[in-house]
Amino acid sequence: MEVTAPRARPVAASIGLDVGGGAVKAGTVVLGQDGTLIRPPWPQSAPAGAGIDAGGEVRTRHHVESDGEALAALCAQMTHEQYLGLRSVWPELPVTWGVSAAAWIEPATGRSVFSPHLMGWRDRPLPSDLSSALSSVAGLPSAEVAVFDAENRTVPTPWVINDADAAAWAEARWQGTDDLLTAPTTAFGDGRGDRMVLVAVGTGIGGALVRDGVVDIGAHGMAGEFGHMTVDPSGVPCPCGNTGCWELLVSAEALAARAGRASARSVMDEALAGDPVCRRAVAETGRWLGRGLATLTAVLDPSRFVIGGGVAAAGELLLEPARAELVRHLPGGRRRPVPPVRTAALGNRAGWVGAAGTAVERAGWPVTGVLAPTG
Ligand SMILES: [Zn+2]
Repeated sequence: MEVTAPRARPVAASIGLDVGGGAVKAGTVVLGQDGTLIRPPWPQSAPAGAGIDAGGEVRTRHHVESDGEALAALCAQMTHEQYLGLRSVWPELPVTWGVSAAAWIEPATGRSVFSPHLMGWRDRPLPSDLSSALSSVAGLPSAEVAVFDAENRTVPTPWVINDADAAAWAEARWQGTDDLLTAPTTAFGDGRGDRMVLVAVGTGIGGALVRDGVVDIGAHGMAGEFGHMTVDPSGVPCPCGNTGCWELLVSAEALAARAGRASARSVMDEALAGDPVCRRAVAETGRWLGRGLATLTAVLDPSRFVIGGGVAAAGELLLEPARAELVRHLPGGRRRPVPPVRTAALGNRAGWVGAAGTAVERAGWPVTGVLAPTG
């Protein structure tokens, strides 16, 4: 079988999973000797043919949000399939395993403290749950190690991370497509460094601040809950107990309601096709997005914003009004540098790429860049 090698000699590989309400995504990255992660081209003979794309990414829908054991078993099955595919190409490479979840994760232990959507993963020791599940699937004992044993004697314990933190980590390292040799986006050349803020707009708003490639998780691992900043004090009550939260004004649901459509996807499709009602709804959502970005800029002084999540698919129809509103509401807006606002490069792959990347980095291989796959 023909497999294109990464541009630098591979030194390790990592399997990443992104566990959300409704779907688990999985994929594999290979780390080159130069510190760059790439998605390896996947051999056609790889297992799990259904739903597998050219880069080996798999997306599996599920309805087991409230059944923690079934969710761990699904993750283990997907990890095992990725592992077998990886081993068929690189039998000797050290392999790590990372899982990102839509949950508040205790940084030191990987334990999930709470999750609004993954009811079965509330207050669970996720690393040991997942390791036991993989042990059953692979028929091997689990071990408290970070790397898959090349002789296949044990299964390791995964690194578990919050999904927005994982996505932000990956986006902050994005360097372009693998036929493009660019300087790392973290290098500004004037010593200021990079302070990227990721804002992921979907069902709610998730996000993170990344300083020179390091995710600032806060004192208790809870930083980046931007969605529950009050942006409209006279707005509607939020399930969190607050009023007029940012995510109530900018989420996919808010966008759909504003246009009177069934889903945000149809609003964006119709807006891109020129429908005036949907265009106005996207623009108003963009203005509310910009108001929140102004507050974040006043507090964090970021060097750039990256907008991810499903709503970012509206592109410039959303971002243009957001930028204008950001300048309008920023203290000293016309006299200070205004951070650029762009859409996320890795899109909905950022979660599993970040999980895989942080896992391999934690196991001792520093990661300086992420190259998006071509095609
Ligand atoms: Zn709230």
